[in-house]
Amino acid sequence: SEKRIVEIRIIAYGEQQMLLIARDITRVRQLEGMRKDFVANVSHELKTPLTVLQGYLEVMQSMADEDDPNQRALSLMQQQASRMKSMVEQLLVLSRIEDSAEINLEKVVDMQKMFAILRSEADALARDEYEISFELDPQLNIHGDELQLRSACSNLISNAIRYTEPGGKIHIGWQRVATGARFSVTDSGIGIAQQHVARLTERFYRVDNARSRQTGGSGLGLAIVKHALNHHHSELLINSIPGKGSTFSFIIPQHLVV
Ligand code: ADP
Repeated sequence: SEKRIVEIRIIAYGEQQMLLIARDITRVRQLEGMRKDFVANVSHELKTPLTVLQGYLEVMQSMADEDDPNQRALSLMQQQASRMKSMVEQLLVLSRIEDSAEINLEKVVDMQKMFAILRSEADALARDEYEISFELDPQLNIHGDELQLRSACSNLISNAIRYTEPGGKIHIGWQRVATGARFSVTDSGIGIAQQHVARLTERFYRVDNARSRQTGGSGLGLAIVKHALNHHHSELLINSIPGKGSTFSFIIPQHLVV
């Protein structure tokens, strides 16, 4: 009657035997689906009231005098409302990326266009306060989902800027390597202690330091990156030295490189 989902694991067992383990995961999948729908719905529903709040706060702020004692409170509320809005938006992006189980990898990404967009985003975020260098192999073409790939790259770029003090250096590049196409962002920023590295792509995981608190991020950026890369048969590599800087990179495998 009802369709069941069964997970089968085959484990080599001794020289000539194998062990087959079958597990009914129908219920697990159902609950997972409910959780995802719930998150997506809540985020969607929160967007409208937040937009209304933001709008009125803006009006109130523009009507208050410079020396109005409420001015500071209004601007704090506005900051926090916009922070909440961007978290809600990130949650929506994450649930969409998590959901798209099968993405179309047939299309060839317009690398020049994607790179131009990443470049202008980086320049806008850096506001001339950083030394940024860019590098794109002009012969590089890959199969993939342009939006998801761009979202992965732009999350890594904005992190590099946010976790580097002004005056620092950032290098952004796409190059061909023996195993495929490599994207990397290297910063001369605060770095990450080794014990945190393995957990960075978990939802809401943030290294508890002054900078993380102050940057006002959502803690969802790297979770989004991880899912986008999964869909491209790739994974995030993190190399970091506390106090010196970090390199976040990934390699799109050869079979997706044109
Ligand atoms: P957030 O919105 O907090 O930046 P992310 O998922 O993008 O969330 O990143 C998770 C955590 O990883 C950050 O809070 C920060 O502590 C750490 N992090 C990410 N990128 C860098 C980087 N380039 N340098 C140092 N720390 C980083």
